[in-house]
Amino acid sequence: MEKLKAGGETSAYCTSCKDMRHHVVVAMSGDVPAKVECLSCHKQHKFKAGPPGTKAAKVAKISSGGSAVKTKSARPAAGSVPAFSGPNPLEAILASRGTSSARSYSPAERYAIGELVSHPSFGIGAVTATPSPGKMSVLFRDTTRLLLHERAPAVVAPVAKLAPPPRREDIPTGPADRPPKVKPIL
Ligand SMILES: [Zn+2]
Repeated sequence: MEKLKAGGETSAYCTSCKDMRHHVVVAMSGDVPAKVECLSCHKQHKFKAGPPGTKAAKVAKISSGGSAVKTKSARPAAGSVPAFSGPNPLEAILASRGTSSARSYSPAERYAIGELVSHPSFGIGAVTATPSPGKMSVLFRDTTRLLLHERAPAVVAPVAKLAPPPRREDIPTGPADRPPKVKPIL
C-alpha cells in the first residue's frame, strides 16, 4: 500500500456528501490523514475512512501485522525436551546401529531409554528419556516427541493356571487325526 501524504488522494467518507468520495489529503497525522478535502463538494473535513458506524470508520489504519501469533508452532509439546542444535543426533544413532533393531511403536508396549522405535507416522526414533511413568521422549528426525507407552490395561496377576479352553484349531477334527504339516525351519 502506498503511503499517504498531504496532497495525495485517498478514498474517504465525506461528511457533506454522506458517501464515499475521493479526497485530497490536506493534513496528515502520523500515517493517517487528519484532514481531507472532498473532490466532489470541495469541503474540508476530518478524515473518515468509512461511513459512521462501520468498522472502517473506527479503524482508520489496519495494522499490518497479522502473522505475529504463529511463532510457537515449531516447539515440541514436551517441556523437558532438550533442544538440539546442528545435525540431529538421531542420524548418528541410526548410522551406527541401523534401523533393524527398531521395535514398532505401540502404546501398550514398554520401551527403555536407548531403544529404537518405529512409529507409523513419525518414522524411526530413539527413546531419550522416560520423564514420567507411561511417557517417553522419543527423538525423531524432525523433533522430539512425547509418546505414551506402558499403557497396557492392568494385567491381572496370573491366576491359578486354569486349563484354557481349547482353541478351535486345536480340537481334533476326528478319529483320523492328521497332524498339521509343519515345514521344517532350516
Ligand atoms: Zn463531499
